[in-house]
Amino acid sequence: MSGGSATVVEFDAVSKTYPGGVTALSDVSLCVGRGELVGVVGPSGSGKSSMLHLMGSLDRPSAGRVLIDGHDVARLSDREVSALRATRIGFVFQQFHLAVGVPVLDSVADGLLYAGVPLRRRRAQAAEALARVGLSHRVRHLPHQLSGGERQRAAVARAVVGGPSVLLADEPTGNLDSASGAAVLELLRELHASGTTVVIITHDREIAAGLPRRLEMRDGRLIGDTARNTTIGAAW
Ligand code: ADP
Ligand code: MG
Repeated sequence: MSGGSATVVEFDAVSKTYPGGVTALSDVSLCVGRGELVGVVGPSGSGKSSMLHLMGSLDRPSAGRVLIDGHDVARLSDREVSALRATRIGFVFQQFHLAVGVPVLDSVADGLLYAGVPLRRRRAQAAEALARVGLSHRVRHLPHQLSGGERQRAAVARAVVGGPSVLLADEPTGNLDSASGAAVLELLRELHASGTTVVIITHDREIAAGLPRRLEMRDGRLIGDTARNTTIGAAW
C-alpha cells in the first residue's frame, strides 16, 4: 500500500449507527493534513470516540467514506485493514493498556511485531522510543512499578515506535493528575513538532484552547472546525 499524500485522514459524509440503532456520527466531513495537531472536543456521548475509532480503522462507517493515507477503508479486506492499522496508526487511550507482568521495553517492542522486524531491532527501536518519552531509566520496569504518568508515556512510546502516519489519543490525560497530564501533553506537542500527525480527544478546556485546530462535536455532528473558521461554541 502506498502513502505519503498531504491528507492523512479524510471523512466524506461519514455516519455511524451502532447495532441497536444509536447514531453516534451523522454526516461528518473533514480532512486531517499531514503534520497537524488537532483537538476533538464535545460533551460526553457526542461521538468523539466513535470518530477516533473510524479514523483508526478500528471500525467501519455505516455510510460515507473514510480514507486513511488515501486508502478507502471500505474497499480493503480485513487483512489489509489490520495491516493498515498496525503500520500507520498509533493509539493512546485513557487506560494505559500495558500488558501486566511484561517489562515496558517488551511491551513497546511488541508494537513492531506486525512489521516483521527481528527481535533485536524491535528492542533497539523500543529503547529509542522510550528514550524519546523520557523513560530510558525505566525500560526493565513492569507496568505496576510505574506511575500513571510514566505508564501513559510508555503507551505513547508503543504508539509511535513504528512511525505511524497518525497518533490518535482518546482522553490520554483523563486518568492523570494535572502535572503528569501536562507532561503527557507536552510529549504529544514534541512529537507533533518533530512531524507526527496527532489527533487528541480532550474534555480539558485549557488543553483544547492551546491546540492549533479544534473540531467540536455535538450529538454526532461536527458543529465546529477552527480550520474552516466555523464557530466553536462556548457551551461545551
Ligand atoms: P464520546 O466519546 O463523545 O463520549 P462515543 O462516540 O463514545 O461518544 O458515543 C457516542 C454515542 O454512541 C453514545 O450515545 C454511545 O452510547 C453510543 N455508542 C458508543 N459505542 C457504542 C457501541 N459500541 N454500541 C452501541 N452504542 C455505542
Ligand atoms: Mg469517548
